[in-house]
Amino acid sequence: MAPVKFQDVRKSFGSTEVLHGITVDIDEGQFVVLVGPSGCGKSTLLRMLAGLENITSGEIVIGDRVVNALPPKERDIAMVFQNYALYPHITVGENMGFSLSLKGVAKSEIEDRVRPAAEILGLSHLLDRYPRQLSGGQRQRVAMGRAIVRDPQVFLFDEPLSNLDAKLRVSMRTEIKNLHQRLATTTVYVTHDQIEAMTMADKIVVMHDGIVEQVGDPLELYDRPANLFVAGFIGSPA
Ligand code: ADP
Ligand code: MG
Repeated sequence: MAPVKFQDVRKSFGSTEVLHGITVDIDEGQFVVLVGPSGCGKSTLLRMLAGLENITSGEIVIGDRVVNALPPKERDIAMVFQNYALYPHITVGENMGFSLSLKGVAKSEIEDRVRPAAEILGLSHLLDRYPRQLSGGQRQRVAMGRAIVRDPQVFLFDEPLSNLDAKLRVSMRTEIKNLHQRLATTTVYVTHDQIEAMTMADKIVVMHDGIVEQVGDPLELYDRPANLFVAGFIGSPA
């Protein structure tokens, strides 16, 4: 696990600036949630951390390295998306090990890494099934399994639960938190859902129109919102 730093990070698409100088410090092992309304820049910030989007100015640091110029595969991160496409023609176990096989990791080592990950996620009995034979929640777990087997310094989640029904969404929150407690990997989790943020985060970063409105733990935001935007956003129903 590693600390993460955003230092005065800006992003423009063409002549439009969408992130206006974001500064956030994330401690190693912390579970940080970026929350804010749709379009405020959460995914763009996460994609820059992942190396999937260039940074216009500022600095992003993972561990003790400035990663601005590093390609995604050199950043030691693993990302779980909302649309976690699994490969339909290979098994659950093969899906989980796929990125390792691309890296040329030996088959026996892949199996040694997939097995404990599957156990943590309750997937051990499903390793030989195909994605189409799984429920939505099980597929989501496979997507997390793919991230876990890579044993990254940082986990990134972009709205991983938005495609699940309400009941499953609630139970998956707990599963992701349990996973974090077990692995203690630094996690940056993006959602537009303030209830999800309040129930999952060690630290919440409230974003709005490309700026950070407030950073704090859930209780601080609830008790002492910095301004009307935070008060309204945190206080509104899901
Ligand atoms: P969020 O994830 O919070 O919903 P995004 O990071 O997706 O927000 O988007 C932030 C802003 O940047 C939005 O105004 C969006 O339209 C714009 N944006 C995102 N990606 C691109 C892109 N590739 N080209 C142009 N504008 C983009
Ligand atoms: Mg988004």
